Formats: sequence, C-alpha cells, structure tokens
Amino acid sequence: MSIIVQKYGGTSVGSIEKIRDVAQRVIEYHKQGGRMVVVLSAMSGQTNQLIELAKEIAREPDLRELDVLLSTGEQMSISLFAMAVKSMGYDARSLLGFQVGIRTDQLYGKARIHDIDTSRILKNLEKNRIVAVAGFQGLDEKNNITTLGRGGSDTTAVALAAALRAEVCEIFTDVDGVFTTDPNICSKARKMDSISYDEMLEMASLGAKVLEIRSVEFAKKFGVPIHVRSTFTKERGTMVVAETKDMEKVLVSGVAFNKNEARITIRNVPDRPGIAAQIFDPVFQAGIVVDMIVQNTSADGITDLTFTVPNADYNKAMTLLNNVSQDIGADIIGDENIAKISIVGVGMKAHAGVAQKMFQTLSRENINIMMISTSEIKISCVVEEKYTELAVRSLHDAFGLENVTPET
Ligand code: ASP
Ligand code: MG
Repeated sequence: MSIIVQKYGGTSVGSIEKIRDVAQRVIEYHKQGGRMVVVLSAMSGQTNQLIELAKEIAREPDLRELDVLLSTGEQMSISLFAMAVKSMGYDARSLLGFQVGIRTDQLYGKARIHDIDTSRILKNLEKNRIVAVAGFQGLDEKNNITTLGRGGSDTTAVALAAALRAEVCEIFTDVDGVFTTDPNICSKARKMDSISYDEMLEMASLGAKVLEIRSVEFAKKFGVPIHVRSTFTKERGTMVVAETKDMEKVLVSGVAFNKNEARITIRNVPDRPGIAAQIFDPVFQAGIVVDMIVQNTSADGITDLTFTVPNADYNKAMTLLNNVSQDIGADIIGDENIAKISIVGVGMKAHAGVAQKMFQTLSRENINIMMISTSEIKISCVVEEKYTELAVRSLHDAFGLENVTPET
C-alpha cells in the first residue's frame, strides 16, 4: 500500500474542534487503506505568541534557545492530534523531528534538512498506526534543536514524502489551491488545476504565498508531486508537478505581485571595472537580498544603477550605500512606494510577443513602467505601488486568465 504524506497548516489545527476534524479526516483515508504520515504546524498564532514571549525577555533572543522554544508549538499540535485519533478508536503515534532523524545544518531559525531516517516511521506504519510528525523542526549534527524558517512545515512534509517515496504530498491549507492571482484583489482569479514547479517558484517568490518556497525547491529536486488543497472541502485543489508539454500551450499562467520591495537608484556611477563589486559588497555582507538589478550603458563614462531590495532592509541598505556613494562620487535616491508586477508562464518560452502585450496593457491604463526584468518564464515590471491592483486586474484580463484551463 502506498504512503501518503499530508500536511495541515496552523488554521487547519487552530482549535481542539479543528484538530478533531483533521483526525476524523485522516482516519477516513486510513480506512481506505492509505498508510498515513501527517505533518502538522503549530496551532494558528502559536508560533507568533512564542516569539512575543521571547521578545519580552530580550529584544534579540538567543537563536539557539529561540529554536528550542519555537519547536514546542508543533509538539502541542501533534500530541493533541494523536490523542484525538486514539479517542476515536484508532492507533496513532506522535513523533518529534529528532525522533524521526530529521537532520539539518546548524543555521538556527532557517536550517536546511540534510537527511531523514525513515525507519521509525516505517515501523509504526507497519503496526497500522497513523504517524504524526512535528513540522518545522530538526536536529543539527551536535544534537541541537533547529527550526526551518517560518512556514517550514511544508518543507518537512515534502522532505518526508521524498524520503518515504510517498505517492503524493498533500498540503492542506485554508485556501482552495493555487490561483491565477490573488483572489482578494481580482475577483476573476481562477483556481489552477496544475502548475509546474518552476512556475510555482516564481509565483511563490513573487508574493503568492501558498507554499513555502523551499518546499517547492525540494519537491522539484526529488520529483515529489504536491497537491495543495483546502482542509475545509473535499474538492480537488492544485497539483504542483513537473512541467508537461500541455502547459506550454498556455502563454501566461498567473500574475504575481510584490509590494514589499523598494527601489534604489545610484546616479553618476563611474563606469569602470570593480565599481559594481564595490557598491554591492557592503549590501551583500549585511545579508540583504538584492533582486532586480539594472545598469544602463554609460554616456561619458558615467552610468546609473538601479535595483530593488526588500522594504524591511531599505533603511539599512540606504545607509550602507550612502557611504559607498560618497566614496565614488555618486548620488543615491530611493523609493519605497513601488510594486513589482510579474506575469509567469512556461508557455512564454515558446511564444513571442508576450512582453509586448504586457507593456501595451500597462500603457493602456496609463501605468508607467520604471524597471523591467525578464527570465525564461517570467516578465516583471516595477510600477508605482498605488497601481498594483489596476495592473494585476488588467493583465489578468488581457491574458484571458479567467478562462484558460490548462490540462495535464
Ligand atoms: N509554525 C511554524 C510557523 O508558524 C511553521 C509552520 O507553520 O509551517 O511558521
Ligand atoms: Mg504555511
């Protein structure tokens, strides 16, 4: 019998009643013969509450101890879940990360999974038990508890599905699946039947946050099919899978946007070797992730350099860059009120004119494009933040996303 890994997010296990519902649901699958491995998040709000507690002790809590604290949220939910299953007359075992040998590196708060020892899970499955594994946590090589970063239970689930060679990794959440864009701002947004790993990576990193991005990278690497679906209905959700030929028939699969970035322009940059390295060095040293970078060809040995950074790092980046700019005689301007709007689709690879259609659509709405960047399956434009909704809706219309039903 095949193994099924299911992950339930914080809202799905947000109360005792909901934990009972999840137990009931998992028992149904178990009765149909599935060997069930269930990964749970902490009850909704729990991880945030723990962080608040830590911050009452220290503004920058010790990272090792913070992971010890944060890992308790999932310990609560898996134990309650196992009790619920048992109270319904079925056998269950809850297991913490270290008990199933989830080995990670030592980066507290954002550890990466290296290895999983599946033997204990398999033994429990053989005994006909439902196995509940704590998401989001692992153990480094010195046996310290680590956590995987916010939303990390998705990664636990996908990593377990890969290690157990599960048939599918089902991610149960509070939305019906992956949508062509955010339904909160575009009422015509449509649930997709399927999406490729690469498209999902673009959509996720651009702000369509249904799945934690690292879980998608993991799934792609190990070819784990992910089914994102709602805990509260029986409907099919969205399959996140390897690219198929059919997917290429569709020009654009989705419109993503990100309001959490700021733009920085450095003007009068001397155009000579080593300058870009000099400018970005302090920014990278500070661990700030720079996204779009545009540099123009120079006129008279002077050029402009524009790039985006997360809003949260904007002030820090401006301070660091002010210093470098003074050193090289350049000046710097910044703008926090921008948004990045992106169209994503594997079909772009095989079709010309997609960019032009995007530019025309924005121009028809009188939206000025400040920056453009492209990849094989994505075109992004930076626009004024106040135009985000208008841009997303008009692009969604222009590419007919309301109607396209990509088949797989
Ligand atoms: N409980 C963790 C968080 O809130 C991990 C997760 O839910 O995936 O980020
Ligand atoms: Mg999540």
